[in-house]
Amino acid sequence: MFADLHLHSLFSDGTFTPEEVVGHGVRFGHRALALTDHDTVEGCERMAAACAAAGIEFLVGTELTAEHGGNELHILAYCVDPQNPELLAKIAKFQKVRQERIRDMVACINALGVPLQVEEVFALANCRSPGRPHVARALVRGGFCRTLDEAFERFLKKNRPAWVPKAKMSAPEAIELIHQAGGLAVMAHPGLNRSDQNIPAIVAAGLDGIECFHTKHPPATAEHYLAIARHYQLLVTGGSDCHGLSKGKPLIGTVRLDYQYVEKLYAAKSAAAESRAVPPVK
Ligand code: AMP
Ligand code: FE
Ligand code: FE
Ligand code: ZN
Repeated sequence: MFADLHLHSLFSDGTFTPEEVVGHGVRFGHRALALTDHDTVEGCERMAAACAAAGIEFLVGTELTAEHGGNELHILAYCVDPQNPELLAKIAKFQKVRQERIRDMVACINALGVPLQVEEVFALANCRSPGRPHVARALVRGGFCRTLDEAFERFLKKNRPAWVPKAKMSAPEAIELIHQAGGLAVMAHPGLNRSDQNIPAIVAAGLDGIECFHTKHPPATAEHYLAIARHYQLLVTGGSDCHGLSKGKPLIGTVRLDYQYVEKLYAAKSAAAESRAVPPVK
């Protein structure tokens, strides 16, 4: 039995509807799926309904962008209350940051003589949580770049002319936000962020788990982070980070997380709910 705990839909920068994500998950035989769109939980209701209809388990999730020691890192939130007011207020703020950043990136692209219209990007994104992949797709659709890779290489990658830094919360802030919303905080794809030196401090801030299995983690990288998870007694998670057709071929199915790790995550959620619950007044 397997799971995929890192999936995006068109509520952020994926191209599949939540129902399509579930359809693919079922095709690969997954017993549990989590939706982890960037800075939003909007797709979770539809995804929960689609999972229920398909007879598989669903975990509410979102992927937050955070920073520590000057390094960007992504924190996955699992089993948060999707109605939690503080969580919703904070992600609404970061959605605004994303929308402003799209305007700034398009202004940089325009300054280079490429007449991409910002309205085109927003129309294509059609969501509250737009990101660089939407700009890349609009550049290709407008005929300004041949491929998404070309768009990132020419304009959007870090330190390229249209790259704009994104305001982020600190890792401890992200962890605290997730905990107060009843969830578990997991460091996403640590192999892509090269910030192992930050792990002790982030664990001290209350990190619950680490995404050891990821499409871009070769086996040696997964082993490396499994050893770190054992050392700090962290939960182990994994997922494909599928963005649908946004990056070419859908990645769902490339990571099949052993279901035992999902059971450990459920147990940690129950234990946290008990330990964080306010004792009844006598
Ligand atoms: P943003 O959140 O706006 O900074 O955009 C980050 C998203 O862009 C993530 O989903 C990344 O996987 C994607 N991304 C980053 N670099 C590239 C690249 N070189 N080619 C395609 N997608 C990328
Ligand atoms: Fe993404
Ligand atoms: Fe990520
Ligand atoms: Zn992701």
